[in-house]
Amino acid sequence: MSDKRVVIVGGGFAGLCAAYTLLKRGITPLLLEAEERAGGRGKGERVDGFSLDMGAFVFTSTYDTAFRLCGELGLPLVPSMMKFGHYRKGRWVTTTPDQSFWNFVRHLRTAITMGFLSPAGMRAGSKVMREIHRQAPYMSFAGDSPLAEIDDDESFGEYLERLRVPETLQVTLRGPLDMILGDPMPAGQALMRAYIGETMLHSGRVYMPERGIGSLSEALANACADAIRVSTPVRRIVVADGKATGVVVDGETIEADAVICAVPGTKVLDLVPELPEETRRALGAVSYSTGCRVVIGLDHSPLPPGWHGALYPEDDDTPLLLNRTAFLPACAPPGKSILDLLIGRERAKELIPLSDEEVKRELLGAARRKAPPGSALPGDDEGLFYRVYRWEEALCMGEPGMLAAMADVPGQIAGRIENLVLAGDYTRVPAVNGALSSGEGAAIAVADLLASRAG
Ligand SMILES: Cc1cc2nc3c(=O)[nH]c(=O)nc-3n(C[C@H](O)[C@H](O)[C@H](O)COP(=O)(O)OP(=O)(O)OC[C@H]3O[C@@H](n4cnc5c(N)ncnc54)[C@H](O)[C@@H]3O)c2cc1C
Repeated sequence: MSDKRVVIVGGGFAGLCAAYTLLKRGITPLLLEAEERAGGRGKGERVDGFSLDMGAFVFTSTYDTAFRLCGELGLPLVPSMMKFGHYRKGRWVTTTPDQSFWNFVRHLRTAITMGFLSPAGMRAGSKVMREIHRQAPYMSFAGDSPLAEIDDDESFGEYLERLRVPETLQVTLRGPLDMILGDPMPAGQALMRAYIGETMLHSGRVYMPERGIGSLSEALANACADAIRVSTPVRRIVVADGKATGVVVDGETIEADAVICAVPGTKVLDLVPELPEETRRALGAVSYSTGCRVVIGLDHSPLPPGWHGALYPEDDDTPLLLNRTAFLPACAPPGKSILDLLIGRERAKELIPLSDEEVKRELLGAARRKAPPGSALPGDDEGLFYRVYRWEEALCMGEPGMLAAMADVPGQIAGRIENLVLAGDYTRVPAVNGALSSGEGAAIAVADLLASRAG
């Protein structure tokens, strides 16, 4: 099979995992990446002994493919609880997903402040928990998650309304979702419930490689180095007589026996306009949040002792604050730390066109105005270094019904365009694990196809 050429378009987690899986099957693919470096939204950066994540930064407890790959590539996983302060009505309360009795007693005042213990709050809270427990088997980020089966036309906002969840409680439930930078309300309730379910059912436990998610994309890219060609944007996937036969890059057409298209869902139609009408419709439902992030290296800890981060309500322009080194001490030299400021929604759209210096000034200024007591946030010109990362397309939020619609796509393409497989976070439960398992699945499908032809 070595004379068969497989071209992979896009070198994010989906494309990298496809390349890695094909190499394990004895097939050397050609991965074409538009940017100067592979990794996509999972890229990391090393600066003066610090390890920074530019995009994704946490795994939840059901990231099966991600865990397996970290094991294979020798990256130890660090489990962590999310210890966040939550800003509400001018006061700080700590959110704690631990469901033990003592924890409940310890945080009784918090529960009262958050509205959990009002009659309406208790009714709604127990209804939400009953629903989450009933549907727990669906709420998995694992590659073969049946989450799509419960992805109907209801938005997350409508879902909360149907359960009569009071506004105060909605803020609490949506807190963890703000971490992912998008507006969860119009997004599909199945996906949003998976995030909430993950927090509630697994006590808010998250997992990360000790040097961050960027170390996984780096390890994958190193393992596939000979197969990757960077700075090579693909202009078009060539489809002739119902078959994908190659790709067009600037000045060249590269022939292929199979093509894996691993770009974000919004870019697929430009590359393959020949896709069936129902697939075009499904892709029309794919949308992404916008994100903007400032990372600052410090020689002191920016948040009060024991705090991993601070969350603000979604109508507040204060960024999510993360003390990355409280989760992952190995990401900074001894005694140093990393402050991460993240913002999404409309505010990120306003910031993206500004200069790095302006973005840092804006986000740091907003953070300083509402920093938790005991914080030591830097001044505008303090810090060892800073980086600004802009994401026009950050998290795939998915309109209601998007996951279910995407689950039908492979069947629609089969028999219409041979030798073409779509991969990417939007084709699974959209997150790092979905991207990885989609790439793995695409590679296995292509390897089997080539093997069946060779046979
Ligand atoms: C700020 C931020 C925070 C996030 N936090 C989390 C998190 O904590 N946990 C989590 O699970 N997920 C998180 N995510 C989402 C996660 O990063 C993505 O779901 C995942 O990385 C998507 O991988 P992908 O391969 O599908 O797409 P991408 O990473 O977008 O990869 C697509 C690749 O295709 C390339 N490309 C595009 N067009 C072309 C072309 N024409 N020719 C060649 N190459 C092309 C792109 O340059 C890119 O490298 C976050 C994302 C962001 C941005």
